[in-house]
Amino acid sequence: MENKEYRVLLYYHYVTIENPEEFAQEHLEYCKNLGVLGRILIAHEGINGTLSGTVEQTEQYMAHMKEDPRFTDMVYKIDEEDEHAFKKIKVRHRPELVTLRLEDDVNPLELTGKYYSPKEFQEAMQQEDTVIIDARNDYEYAVGHFKNAILPDINTFKELPEWIRDNREKFEGKKILTYCTGGIRCEKFSGWLRKEGFEDVAQLHGGIVTYGKDPEVQGKDWDGQCYVFDERLIVPVNRVEPTVVGKDYYTGEPCERFVNCGNPECNKKILCSEENEHKHLRACSHECRVHERNRYVTEHGLTEEEVKERLAVLV
Ligand SMILES: [Zn+2]
Repeated sequence: MENKEYRVLLYYHYVTIENPEEFAQEHLEYCKNLGVLGRILIAHEGINGTLSGTVEQTEQYMAHMKEDPRFTDMVYKIDEEDEHAFKKIKVRHRPELVTLRLEDDVNPLELTGKYYSPKEFQEAMQQEDTVIIDARNDYEYAVGHFKNAILPDINTFKELPEWIRDNREKFEGKKILTYCTGGIRCEKFSGWLRKEGFEDVAQLHGGIVTYGKDPEVQGKDWDGQCYVFDERLIVPVNRVEPTVVGKDYYTGEPCERFVNCGNPECNKKILCSEENEHKHLRACSHECRVHERNRYVTEHGLTEEEVKERLAVLV
């Protein structure tokens, strides 16, 4: 049925990469020659990437990686698309693939939660004494999440361990389920939970993206869409009963359209309609609206007078 020319690949693999900096350089050259676009992180602990290309290019990429014994077992989530999902190719070396800001890091190859298939995860969610923790950011949760999932009240993934420690009584003695977009964040997070002494910890294998493609569960019990880190921004998950949970930042009306706050120093991701973006100068607060480098004001070439007029309506 789907016969599209492009594909988006989402993948990660925890494996030791010696000389990651050098490998990143080589890999960038390889990707440039092949013509794929995307964002790939390389660390001593492994690789994490999203890339887009034609069906042929992505096939070639996967075949090339398979030949390298380090990446032979790497799993790809594949979406069929009509166009590229990126404008550039970036391959970056990073000290870690996922930052938990831990005193001592967790190696998912040594310690991680149980892997649950979409079916196992879906069944476990229905059981009593189960808590579901969303291991993503607030803006990701805002546009879609599992029914009854808890969103830790944190600003970045790095704050998650502290939040868990402060809320320990909510999880003690329960089955903990964790999930994220493709699974990479949960590999570490679930391992960290086990290290903290929680015994019954399971992670959604392959993440939300895999859950949405699973022929049996078909995204059941997922509300809204899934935020992705490419130009598509959101992808569908629930094929059984699709719903909208995203809300317009200003009015609370159903909305799945993301913008970044116009203040370049804020950059907060908010959901809003086009109409409200214009009305509020694409800013999350008064401070951001009147920021001297507000990008909305610059892009639309608004005069000081015009900005004042818009602000006056909001009071
Ligand atoms: Zn702002």
